[in-house]
Amino acid sequence: MLTFEEARRVVEEQAAQVPPPATESVDLLSSPGRVLAEQVRADRDIPPFPRSTRDGYAVRCADLDKIPATLEVIGEVKAGESADRIPLAIGLGQAVSIMTGAPVPNGADAVVMVEYTERQGDRIQITKTVAHGDNIVPRGAEARQNSLLLDRGLHLTPAAIALAASVGKSQLSVYKRPCVSVLTTGDEIVDVNTDPGPTQIRNSNSYSLAAQIQQAGGEPILLPIAPDDPKELRRLIEEGLQSDLLLMTGGVSMGRYDFVEQVLSEMRAEFFFTGAKIQPGRPIVFGKCGAGGREKSGTYFFGLPGNPVSTMVTFELFARPLLDALAGQTPGKLTFLHARLKSEIRTKTGLTRFLPATLAGEFESTTVELVPWQGSGDVAATAHANCYIVIPPDRDQLSAGEWVAILPR
Ligand code: AMP
Ligand code: MG
Repeated sequence: MLTFEEARRVVEEQAAQVPPPATESVDLLSSPGRVLAEQVRADRDIPPFPRSTRDGYAVRCADLDKIPATLEVIGEVKAGESADRIPLAIGLGQAVSIMTGAPVPNGADAVVMVEYTERQGDRIQITKTVAHGDNIVPRGAEARQNSLLLDRGLHLTPAAIALAASVGKSQLSVYKRPCVSVLTTGDEIVDVNTDPGPTQIRNSNSYSLAAQIQQAGGEPILLPIAPDDPKELRRLIEEGLQSDLLLMTGGVSMGRYDFVEQVLSEMRAEFFFTGAKIQPGRPIVFGKCGAGGREKSGTYFFGLPGNPVSTMVTFELFARPLLDALAGQTPGKLTFLHARLKSEIRTKTGLTRFLPATLAGEFESTTVELVPWQGSGDVAATAHANCYIVIPPDRDQLSAGEWVAILPR
């Protein structure tokens, strides 16, 4: 059985081979969370003029070798000043009153903050020296005209959207969202609108997965619940393989009625792994089946364990990077944050564990703590968690106060 890192690598290798989806154009306001499908370049130098970053006086710093110094104020430049009103140059012993965001006139090589000046009529007394370039961003220092600002495959964050807006892109070409079929299995599972019998369980996995898929920029398609019956399971798997990705939950463990792997084998699926040394989620299955998918060489599928917490964790660890690739996103690495552990954890070695936890406290006293839970079926406990503590397979004890890795949710 593969270790966590080995299994993750296998998914990353497959993700790197996925060709990007078709594209569509969206309004900038509808672009958050979408994946960029074009290259965005600077339409002019940024900033387009040497920009003052302070309210104050544009000066020649050589005039301030000795302070206090008194300079003659020859004009004022505000942000957006029309070009013909900007003094052509400032000379020896001269200064120009200037506002944040305004173009610095020729000849000036620094801006003194207004806090260090005292104005008397058209004279200004300056009480602090400045160095060449202080409080000025030179023309083109942030980006040169035509340079690449945002590349294809970028997940559109607020800052990326701001950059697109700053170069006049009111529409962006983005990749179409991938369709992800969700197939939940189990004779005991009933849908959310059905009154469950005494031994039945409502389907929660399809809904957590649909939420995770949407958050990752995919379109979930919920298939009917599959009974633990190979024939009916096969029919629904075939339907699910029409999508870009098929996610199944349940039926991948060692029980006598866990038919997912068996049915996929009968369908001549290619398995990349069956199981990973993790908790929760050890029975996870990853493969490709049929003649569908982007390159008609098979649709990727994951058989996620049915325990609700296992389903959520294994989606995040394994299905997510593949879904990102299917969404056209440039593959990224799985990064962990670190936080101080509030109380000791004792466990067993051998598995990489991802245990529901809460990050709490504030500022420098932020700490992380496990949520008490009844195991990987405990949705109620997990709903109150906001991260997972990651425990490496060689550790059976983590001490209070130690820095531990966490996976945010
Ligand atoms: P399985 O992986 O099929 O052995 O299921 C493991 C556990 O998860 C069992 O207790 C199931 O009842 C439960 N389970 C499976 N599928 C779902 C689902 N869609 N929603 C909620 N619980 C489920
Ligand atoms: Mg089952």
